[in-house]
Amino acid sequence: MEYKKRFARLLEITRGLGSAGDVEKYLESILSAATELTNSEVASILEYDDTAKELRFTAVPWFHRETILGAKVPLDGSAAGWVFVQGKPIIIGDVSSDVRHYRQIDRLSKFKTSSLVAVPMLVHGSPVGVFEALNKADNGYYTEDDVALLEMLASLAAIAMRTDVLERRVQGSNNEITELDRLKSEFIAITSHELRTPLGLILGHATFLREMVGKEYYEQLDAIIRNASRLKEIIESLSSVDNYQKGASRLRQRKVSMARIVEDVVASFQEMANQKGVKIRMEVSKDDLFVDADGAKIAIALSNLVKNAITFTDQGGQVLIKAELTPGYVKVSVIDNGVGIPTSDLPRVFERFFQVESHLTRRHGGMGLGLSVAKVMIEMHGGRIWAESVEGKGSNFTFLLPLESEPAEKQAESPFYS
Ligand code: ADP
Repeated sequence: MEYKKRFARLLEITRGLGSAGDVEKYLESILSAATELTNSEVASILEYDDTAKELRFTAVPWFHRETILGAKVPLDGSAAGWVFVQGKPIIIGDVSSDVRHYRQIDRLSKFKTSSLVAVPMLVHGSPVGVFEALNKADNGYYTEDDVALLEMLASLAAIAMRTDVLERRVQGSNNEITELDRLKSEFIAITSHELRTPLGLILGHATFLREMVGKEYYEQLDAIIRNASRLKEIIESLSSVDNYQKGASRLRQRKVSMARIVEDVVASFQEMANQKGVKIRMEVSKDDLFVDADGAKIAIALSNLVKNAITFTDQGGQVLIKAELTPGYVKVSVIDNGVGIPTSDLPRVFERFFQVESHLTRRHGGMGLGLSVAKVMIEMHGGRIWAESVEGKGSNFTFLLPLESEPAEKQAESPFYS
């Protein structure tokens, strides 16, 4: 075959690697290219089976499929075995006078091998199989050119086979992850449901008792009520993320004033900020900051950001809450000059249960849910939330909320989901 045609054929096979959806078909095309380019009668691939410690035919021409596909070839006493063990190519001009030829396969396939060329298939330098071509046309001799061609095709076949194995593994892992995620969601749903009832009873009775008993027990009962309420918040956080993921969460949307929400949230954290010695400030633009939203959910999102900003800012620090209008959106930022977040952790802060410091060593409470809840609440409205931070300098958490409400099915068309 003339040089140009050979090159075109090789190029075609190499290109096919990128679009090889079906590995079997791709290997078939490699085998026919090998047959053509080396002027052989047949070509085949043997893969090494690490458990059985032998080679097996995994790709053969269609007319041998019935007889030798899957057939085993021992490492000892076969040309393919020799190539595999030595990691070197082989050319046998006349198999009838070479003891390395394994005759059993010819018997099975009713084929008569006269000459052969075989090369090892390597992945990262380790042999994974053998690629061979048999019976050079016109009783010719295989040359170093044939070896080079076969080596090239063997590499492509090895990559395709390896990719197929890896893709299958990834698919398997994905299925496992989906199943684990389902089990985790089920666990969270059941646990939070089961905890809610007794907790409601504890809160109810404690509140009742507080009314009934004298002031001397107020402190103890307040502690019970405060901690039970905290537990309730945690359970609500767990189930709100989960409900959203299942699409079970409902929005009660109406026109709400963002300025009002910011004022309310700032007021509710004033006491915490004072105790910590952190100055809390707001800058609300004079524009009309009305959004179509579920005010309670936006307040939860903003509260979680403000709570974090105060928590992760040392005494003497500052927290600024800004609300302003941008085209089509209301933009709210919570800016602090606290401890900041390492760049490597920044992409993960919105993940559920993620905390920069390990749960065991950190000084602050929390379960790593606040930001994931905030993200859920904002994205439910077709909005977007993100964080910028410099470690040791401070953090800036910002969210955008569309001025007009977007129906859930339209969310995919929002500018953030391109
Ligand atoms: P948690 O309730 O445990 O604080 P969050 O989801 O609210 O969980 O936050 C996750 C983690 O992100 C926090 O534990 C903290 O390490 C980091 N983080 C969040 N906000 C800030 C902030 N303003 N400054 C520094 N770190 C922050």
